[in-house]
Amino acid sequence: MSRVLVAEDEERIARFVERGLRAAGYAVDVAGDATQALAAVRAGAPDLMVLDLGLPDTDGLDLLAVLRGEGHRMPVIVLTARDGVADKVAGFERGADDYITKPFAFEELLARVRARLRDSGRAEAQELVHGDLRLDLRTRRAVTPDLGTAELSAREFALLEALMRHPGAIRSREELLDRVWGFDFDPGSNVVEVYIRYLRKKVGAGRIRTVRGSGYAMN
Ligand code: CA
Repeated sequence: MSRVLVAEDEERIARFVERGLRAAGYAVDVAGDATQALAAVRAGAPDLMVLDLGLPDTDGLDLLAVLRGEGHRMPVIVLTARDGVADKVAGFERGADDYITKPFAFEELLARVRARLRDSGRAEAQELVHGDLRLDLRTRRAVTPDLGTAELSAREFALLEALMRHPGAIRSREELLDRVWGFDFDPGSNVVEVYIRYLRKKVGAGRIRTVRGSGYAMN
């Protein structure tokens, strides 16, 4: 299991990222400031770091420079509200591997985490299997014996993946909205229901269960 360190002082975002990465099968540590993050890396370098630039004690880019100076080579994905070109250039110069601008959907961060871990040579499972349903994590295709191969859109894929990661668990509508559409998405939206309908057409209605008043689960 790959270990990810999330350095982020905004609790809501830290929890959102932590929850999502855990659900995707990563071990996650959270550091609320640069001092904690530095101590965590020194205690045992993670496989990847998600780094907020606006930390309360030290600028994230300065922390990154210190870490690289100490020889820590793990991939670092910078997370920030800053979206100026100059900030991005500065980030890459200090040793960032990738950059994501807030607000973001978890799905986008997860795709980047996967890509960086793949680059650094840590193989992950490439397929999820539940009963006779297989989900290919690289091609985003779902395969069933009755319906054959279905190409999934990015959202459909993220939604099915969220359900298949913990097939015994009921995932609430809010949790799915949070995970697949991002923390700034309108909580009153019926987009989850709409996409569950799309998914059922592609992988078979009977494979996804509606739990009245609670959410959705694999059947
Ligand atoms: Ca911050």
